[in-house]
Amino acid sequence: MLPSVFQKAAGIISILEANQYEAYFVGGCVRDFIIDRPIHDIDIATSATPSEIQALFPKVIPVGLEHGTVIIRYEQESFEVTTYRTDGNYTDHRRPDKVVFVRDINEDLGRRDFTMNAIAMDMKGNILDPFEGRKDIAGEQIQTVGDATARFEEDALRIVRALRFSSQLGFSIEEKTKEAMKRSRALTDKLAVERLTVELEKLCAGSFLTKAMTYIFELELYCHLPIFKDVPLLLKELKPVSSLAPIFAFVELSDSPFTVTDCVTAYKCSNQLKKQAKTLVDAYHRYKKHGIDAWFVYLLPKEQWNYFVYLVKQLDHENIEIQELKSKQERLPIASKKELCLNGHDLMEWFPDRPRGKWIKELLDEIEYRIVTCELANDKSRIKDWIQWNQPEQD
Ligand code: ATP
Ligand code: MG
Repeated sequence: MLPSVFQKAAGIISILEANQYEAYFVGGCVRDFIIDRPIHDIDIATSATPSEIQALFPKVIPVGLEHGTVIIRYEQESFEVTTYRTDGNYTDHRRPDKVVFVRDINEDLGRRDFTMNAIAMDMKGNILDPFEGRKDIAGEQIQTVGDATARFEEDALRIVRALRFSSQLGFSIEEKTKEAMKRSRALTDKLAVERLTVELEKLCAGSFLTKAMTYIFELELYCHLPIFKDVPLLLKELKPVSSLAPIFAFVELSDSPFTVTDCVTAYKCSNQLKKQAKTLVDAYHRYKKHGIDAWFVYLLPKEQWNYFVYLVKQLDHENIEIQELKSKQERLPIASKKELCLNGHDLMEWFPDRPRGKWIKELLDEIEYRIVTCELANDKSRIKDWIQWNQPEQD
C-alpha cells in the first residue's frame, strides 16, 4: 500500500488509465519516497495530451501548456500533470526550441535531469527505472541521465540543480557529472535569473549546505552567482536557512559593498522578500543599540524570529533564545496598532481647532511607543490626560 500522500493523486491516475491513457508518479515524489524523505508535492506524467486531459477532468488550469503542464484540481487539491514529452534542441542553453509530446514514458524519463529524478512509479507501487536511478540513490550519487556535458549544455540550470540536490540530500556528485559542471559552468550566466533564484533558495535551505559549498568552490561556480562572486567569503560562511531574506540582510550587515536592495535586484526577488530583509536589518541595528526590549519584539514579526536568531548567529556568533523573544512578546500590552484604543479621529476631536497634518501621525506614533513600553496605559482617558500635559507641536 502506497503512503497516504499518494492515495488522492492515485484517483487521477486511475481516471486516466480507465480512459486508456498511461499515467505515473514521477520526479521528486518518487525519489523522496525511495529515500524515505518527506514528500511535499506529487507530480504525475501521462501519455494524455493537455487537451485530452481537459476533456476528462472538469477543473484543469493550463499553467504551462507549451511544456504540456496542467494543474488538475481534484478533491480540493491541486496536482501538476505533465504530458510525456521530449525537449528537442536547446540552442540558447536554457529553453528547448520545441517540445514534442510522445506516448512512451521511457522517452519522457530520458529528458529528465538526473537518474534519481528519472524514475516512474505506477499506482500499485511498481517502479520503472530505465536509468538505474535506484542504484544511484543507494550509492548517494547525483548523475545526469545521458552525457553530462550535453545535458548541461542543453540547460545550464541543471548545474545549479545538482548543487541544490547535493545540499538537500547530502549526495555526492558523480565524477563525470562533476567535471562537466566545471567545464560548462559559464553557461549559467545565460539563465533567467528567476530560475536560478528558485534553486539558490532551496540550496541555501539544505541540511548539507556545507557539502554543496565545497562543490561550489571546488568547481568555481561561485564566480557565476550574482553578488556572491564579489563576496565569496560570505557565501562560504552561510549556514542553512529557509529564506534568502536573512541571507541578504547578512550581506548588507557584513563588511560588504552590497545592500539588501542590490541583492533583491540582482536576484529579481519579490517586494515581500525585500521588506522582510529590510525589517531584519532594522531589527539588527535596534538590537545592537538597545538589546531585546519590548519595542523590539513589538516591531519584529513572529515569523521572522528564527531569521533574526540566524542573523545574529551569522554576524556575532551569539545565540539568542527564541524563548526570550517569546516571553517578552507575551508581556506586551498590545500586539499591534490595531489594538490601540484610539485613532486619528479621536485626536482631531480633542483638538478641533487644529488643521489636519503630520502632527496626528507623530502623536499616534509616540502614544503607541509609550503604550508598548508601558509608560502609558492603553486607556482613552489616561491618554487624554497625558496629552494635556504634552501638547503636540503645531505643524
Ligand atoms: P522537489 O522535491 O524540490 O520538487 P523535484 O525533483 O520534484 O524536486 P522539480 O523542479 O519539481 O524537482 O521538477 C520535477 C521533475 O522534473 C524533476 O524530478 C525532474 O525529473 C524534472 N526536471 C525539472 N527540472 C528539470 C530540468 N531543468 N531538466 C530536466 N529535468 C528537469
Ligand atoms: Mg517537484
